[in-house]
Amino acid sequence: MYTVIGLEVHAQLKTDTKLFCGCSADYFQKAPNSQVCPVCLGMPGALPVLNQKAVEYTMRVGFALNCTIPDRCKFDRKNYFYPDLPKGYQISQFDEPLCVDGYLDCEVDGEVHRVRINRVHLEEDAGKLIHAANGTSQVDLNRACVPLIEIVTEPDIKSPEQAAAFMKALRQLLRYLEICDGDLEKGSLRCDANISLHPEPDKLGTKTEVKNINSFKAVEDAIKFEQARHRKILESGQEIVQQTLGWDADKGIAVPQRAKEASDDYRYFPDPDLLPVHVSEDWRDEVRGQMPATPAQWRERFSKDYELPDYDIGVLTEEKETAVYFDQVTEKFNKPKEVSNWMMGEIMRLLKDHDEIKVSASDFADFLQVIDEGQINRNTGKEVIEAAFETGKTPLAIIEEQGLKQISNTDELAQVIDQLLADNADQVERYRSGKTGLMGWFVGQVMAKTQGKANPKAVNELLEDRLNA
Ligand code: ADP
Ligand code: ZN
Ligand code: MG
Repeated sequence: MYTVIGLEVHAQLKTDTKLFCGCSADYFQKAPNSQVCPVCLGMPGALPVLNQKAVEYTMRVGFALNCTIPDRCKFDRKNYFYPDLPKGYQISQFDEPLCVDGYLDCEVDGEVHRVRINRVHLEEDAGKLIHAANGTSQVDLNRACVPLIEIVTEPDIKSPEQAAAFMKALRQLLRYLEICDGDLEKGSLRCDANISLHPEPDKLGTKTEVKNINSFKAVEDAIKFEQARHRKILESGQEIVQQTLGWDADKGIAVPQRAKEASDDYRYFPDPDLLPVHVSEDWRDEVRGQMPATPAQWRERFSKDYELPDYDIGVLTEEKETAVYFDQVTEKFNKPKEVSNWMMGEIMRLLKDHDEIKVSASDFADFLQVIDEGQINRNTGKEVIEAAFETGKTPLAIIEEQGLKQISNTDELAQVIDQLLADNADQVERYRSGKTGLMGWFVGQVMAKTQGKANPKAVNELLEDRLNA
């Protein structure tokens, strides 16, 4: 049996205002129904005005996904009834979406897999129902009319792992483009998975659609669940019922929600309150000109400018903040591989317990300089960075405060060593008569007298110099 998967992804745009009115689009943790107006409440006669920024953000996605952006797109009404949709229709794009025919490459186990994009369109979100413990439900319309893009893939995905990899690559892209925060748990990025199985490759069987997928793990788990269910039904000679299911992550099962409706049921028609949008070449150029670099462009530059291994580049560019930080550190301390090692090791480890890098790029560069000069050793350095994350102090301040700098100053060390040799003439005699194993003892003594701060290499050199004189 061959599996075929297509994803429909909804991403919330980070615009200041909603798609068709001036209300704030930031509804997170706001008092219910505090960010609403006649337009997003769906009052009769209130007229929508299209948010230009939302269109431009969608165009960014289109460009980054290698789509065509036709000269014209329009908005349509998708009619259905649900209490979170006061107008009785959602404004969406039906047959003339803003972006069409693109692709996104994503990597699974070192292999690049291309997923074609059917379309990217712009639409409004619905409100939210709050189900109270007493069995009643309340409606919060703060989210109503918040801009969403829907990204629809062609059925090019062949496995649950590929689906998760696609979602990860897409989330990364949207975050790099600075148009969506990509938070699956908060619902700013949502994914519906369509899946079918067929005995022959590249053929489409009857599909089911799983909704309510809100983590990368859920993407894989939900598809695996449906894959197994389809296989069992098909292998027993029965037929798949085309339907929509909801993923229950706690129970690990997909629960049937409703029979799949056809698009006819929505009675789509062009919204008479909104004019079609004409996209000129000048406008396209302007938006292209404002595009932040994509993850692929960052990776390419890291490879060219820093000659880092692919593995390092993958880790460093996973989040844009880290990639920017790397750039800044390297600008001041120009040993890319050294910076990469510290970031992939210590910084990434510390980021598991901290929500951001607590040391400024400039302070981190100064710290790496001190390490590079051998003024403190690596292990001490790790403790310093950890302390810097805990306390918010700069690494150099901590090194200073705790007197951690190694003594590499040969004058200072020479003094300690000369005193040591003078105090232990008998040991010196024994060393010179052949007990060279005593070297370790001398080194230990110097370390003890300097509270472990002496640079071991300098100590060894000086001792050899004196003892073999
Ligand atoms: P619908 O009309 O049910 O919305 P679409 O043709 O619009 O279906 O496709 C919705 C999504 O389902 C797309 O991502 C598409 O790639 C995917 N898809 C379509 N047919 C199949 C199939 N037979 N098996 C798996 N995925 C499919
Ligand atoms: Zn409003
Ligand atoms: Mg469809």
